[in-house]
Amino acid sequence: MVVELISVGTELLLGNTLNTNAVFLAKECAKLGLSSFHQITVGDNFKRMYEVISDARSRTDIIIITGGLGPTSDDITKEVVANVVNKELIADDHSMDLLMTYFPAKTGQNITQNNFKQTLKIEDSIVLDNSNGTAPGYIYEDDKCIIILLPGPPSEVVPMFKNSVLPYLKKFQNNIIYSKMVKMCGIGESKVETMIIDLIKNQTNPTIAPYAKEGEVHLRITASAYSEKEAKEIIKPTILELKNRLNDYIFTENEEDLLENIIIKKLSANNLTLSIAESCTGGLLAGRITSVSGSSKIFNEGFITYSNEAKIKHLGVLEDVISKHGAISPETAIAMAEGVKNKTNSDYSLSITGNAGPNSLENKDVGLVFIACAFKESFTVEEFRIKGNRNRVREYATTYALNLLRKELFKSI
Ligand code: ATP
Ligand code: MG
Repeated sequence: MVVELISVGTELLLGNTLNTNAVFLAKECAKLGLSSFHQITVGDNFKRMYEVISDARSRTDIIIITGGLGPTSDDITKEVVANVVNKELIADDHSMDLLMTYFPAKTGQNITQNNFKQTLKIEDSIVLDNSNGTAPGYIYEDDKCIIILLPGPPSEVVPMFKNSVLPYLKKFQNNIIYSKMVKMCGIGESKVETMIIDLIKNQTNPTIAPYAKEGEVHLRITASAYSEKEAKEIIKPTILELKNRLNDYIFTENEEDLLENIIIKKLSANNLTLSIAESCTGGLLAGRITSVSGSSKIFNEGFITYSNEAKIKHLGVLEDVISKHGAISPETAIAMAEGVKNKTNSDYSLSITGNAGPNSLENKDVGLVFIACAFKESFTVEEFRIKGNRNRVREYATTYALNLLRKELFKSI
């Protein structure tokens, strides 16, 4: 079955409202195994909406429309659909009951005349209750197409879809769609593709789709099967093959896992502690670590040593090291990591120093970043050349620091 989403609203065309309904519905439809080839946004205009809905009706099995079901004169979706399918709008007693109970219960306001527009339904359609607003939804089904009309506000769309539309659509579902996300760091998207191009080219079930995500590469492996158990079996050999080829870069196979969660779990399980020293990232790394609940068990201290003086004063970096090699150097990164480890008595330490831009510093390029990790008597330092603006350099440097710690952790424990 093919589904097409139509988002109605001039505010969407003008960029005033982010189209979160389409994001939500597209994901839900993909989970149901429905194919989707077109997605359209149209303004609150009768003629254009009529054309868009008629076109969609001629090529698709299911249309889901959001927006334009409200009481005001610019809300015309129901009228347009009734015209497209050549049906009348007729009085609906159930919608009238819903409206009467909504007002005193929810708002304490009086009903205005235009609210009665919402008591009309498209002839032969099913009315979907709206427990979060006044506009009911509708499902109209004929031998050509199914048209589902939902209100605009996401707070109404999400519950109405889950409570009424999902059970209705499930009856058309033959297979379930199940996917796993393999997440990697430390490798670029094009290199990943080159290493698995044969798998991507031969894919049918499961499919492999790569996504680049702020310093990470994600591969979504999706299978279609009769049951989740069967889908998992279909996916298993592909995951094994990906691990075979990309094991050093893979940090999880679970969509919900983030680099910081994995690190904190590992440190926590081994009763180890961490402290950090940041320069160009100015606290972003500390922010990522402390965003995970349970980080207090492993995280001791974070220093933001932005100036050279701060690096010397708080971390004990030798003045000589900075004057000889510069603050943006592997030597300073190592001195920062060792300094913070000694000052805080933590098991692991991480440091970041670099040039986030926009201008070159110490004759060093924008995007040049050094990250060091110290553990017991040993240390590792890595050099990165990150392309892009200040924020991109800072975000990527933070992710790369977490990834360096991950590699060190999984190597030594
Ligand atoms: P209302 O009774 O509020 O008028 P409605 O069903 O007529 O509801 P619209 O008027 O189209 O819906 O939209 C109401 C509000 O819902 C918009 O101002 C916007 O904030 C939000 N909205 C509409 N469509 C979307 C969308 N696709 N994604 C996110 N928000 C949306
Ligand atoms: Mg409206």
